[in-house]
Amino acid sequence: TCMDLQLSSCADAAYTQTAFPNLLEQRSREAVESSPEYILLSVLHHLLEGQCNPDLRLLGCAVLAPRCEGSRVRRPCRHVCEGLREACQPAFDAIDMAWPYFLDCAHYFAREEEGCYDPLEKLRGDLEAEEALPSGLPPTFIRFAHHSYAQMVRVLKRTATRCAQVAKTYSIGRSFDGKDLLVIEFSGRPGQHELMEPEVKLIGNIHGNEVVGREMLIYLAQYLCSEYLLGNPRIQRLINTTRIHLLPSMNPDGYEVAAAEGAGYNGWTSGRQNAQNLDLNRNFPDLTSEYYRLASVRGTRTDHIPIPEHYWWGKVAPETKAIMKWMRTAPFVLSASLHGGDLVVSYPFDFSKHPLEVKMFSPTPDEKMFKLLARAYADVHPMMMDRSEGRCGGNFRKQGSVINGADWYSFTGGMSDFNYLHSNCFEITVELGCVKFPPEEALYGLWLNNKESLLSFVEMVHRGIKGVVMDRFGQPVKNARILVKGIRHDVTTASDGDYWRLLPPGSHIVIAQAPGYSKVMKRVTIPLRMRKAGRVDFILQPLGTGHKKLSRELQRTVPASRDPLGEPPQLDLEPLGARRQPSAGGSKPWWWSYFTSLSPHRPRWLLKY
Ligand SMILES: [Zn+2]
Repeated sequence: TCMDLQLSSCADAAYTQTAFPNLLEQRSREAVESSPEYILLSVLHHLLEGQCNPDLRLLGCAVLAPRCEGSRVRRPCRHVCEGLREACQPAFDAIDMAWPYFLDCAHYFAREEEGCYDPLEKLRGDLEAEEALPSGLPPTFIRFAHHSYAQMVRVLKRTATRCAQVAKTYSIGRSFDGKDLLVIEFSGRPGQHELMEPEVKLIGNIHGNEVVGREMLIYLAQYLCSEYLLGNPRIQRLINTTRIHLLPSMNPDGYEVAAAEGAGYNGWTSGRQNAQNLDLNRNFPDLTSEYYRLASVRGTRTDHIPIPEHYWWGKVAPETKAIMKWMRTAPFVLSASLHGGDLVVSYPFDFSKHPLEVKMFSPTPDEKMFKLLARAYADVHPMMMDRSEGRCGGNFRKQGSVINGADWYSFTGGMSDFNYLHSNCFEITVELGCVKFPPEEALYGLWLNNKESLLSFVEMVHRGIKGVVMDRFGQPVKNARILVKGIRHDVTTASDGDYWRLLPPGSHIVIAQAPGYSKVMKRVTIPLRMRKAGRVDFILQPLGTGHKKLSRELQRTVPASRDPLGEPPQLDLEPLGARRQPSAGGSKPWWWSYFTSLSPHRPRWLLKY
């Protein structure tokens, strides 16, 4: 007979009735609760640091507390299990844990013909539910309100459906509490990179209690879609020539904490961190210290710095990891991270060149370009241009509301420094206003102030030069370096051989080089008012055999990659035991003592060896 499901770890399952014995032949609720299988499910989320959960837990619940309907037990679907196993095996490998026997897809799960059900249906359902617009409103209607997670997801999905030919949503991973980090993308051909089309990302709500960026990006998505459909030539040109990715909330768990306190009542810091209490904008690898070290040595490369291995020994938030993985999937050129609490645009470096100086101007080699990028935002923002002393962010008015990050205050582990030093992407930080969680009535005004800034910033991705690097047969050369004399920061070509180099107006000497080829040099002049990237292609000639030594030298300058994020786009990170010290010489993994202390039944099936 069916009875109420009363297991606390399975309380969010899509059904409410279960039956005993379960699929493991456990005969009572007490027997389940004291079993190592159930204990595992209860702590899985923390063991895997949020990866693959709550999906895996719900999958396990479908075995330990099977769905009961009309006094019949139903089995969960095998294909759901297989999909999760493929996606989540690496997370188990990373902590040296075997795939739990009771999640054996062939054994405890059923095929569709046998009438299985999807135990994750509710999880998906939450994301796909349609919300009808209040009747009588045009589809271009934007609700200038705060959006809960579910509302945000609905708006983004609805927008992508309405603009299906130019928009698409996708998830870059999950937050610690299991919320999808949902992105909406706009492009002439959503879902794919096009040759020489530059890619931009805008990220909001990295600090969960700084909510204006989240709302601005939700409105921007709707605005881009509507204006595209209405035939706005500027928006059509922008979308047809650019791939724009919007991630309104990088920290949806923190947002929940802040939103629970409510607009206007939110304290200065509650909800800033993610669910693990990590500040995501301090959680990226500190490559800036490494940069300062390298920069003091003549002739070394100071760009595309690899992630140091010790980084993985510390706590890495799933949100941080998701961003790093995302950066591998597309050749991003430009980015902005939207914050709140002040009114200013800041640009790298955020970490001071002197570790003890908390306020010290610390420019990158691309100082000129970064200033232009920051200006593109600030100069068209009516509040940032306001010269009155008493205004929000008034102490930045002399600098025109633009400041070098470390000159404002120095910190390490930030996202912008990481973008610049690890990839080809230039990222700035925008502080959208003094109130982190403003009342709803303020949102429309904030949108009016930021709309033009956001658009003109995104358009900046078309500054400088772009082109393709090929060999003499017209084959693309990927990972070739594009050097600019006088700027010690190279960019590299993407997999189709295409590149983008943001550059300020003026004359530049640009060099393309790749291992095994002779380098090619070109002089380019970028006119003052040019708003389209100039096209500069390079054709590389192979080096003769006499040049082997040089070629070897060039090879050596390519960073040796012992990088757990893994290339090519490998879905899960971290080599075996990179995060925790590997269990040496046959000793048990770190989590073993936890299980043995809780239950007399030792779950040897969790051990790989
Ligand atoms: Zn912030």
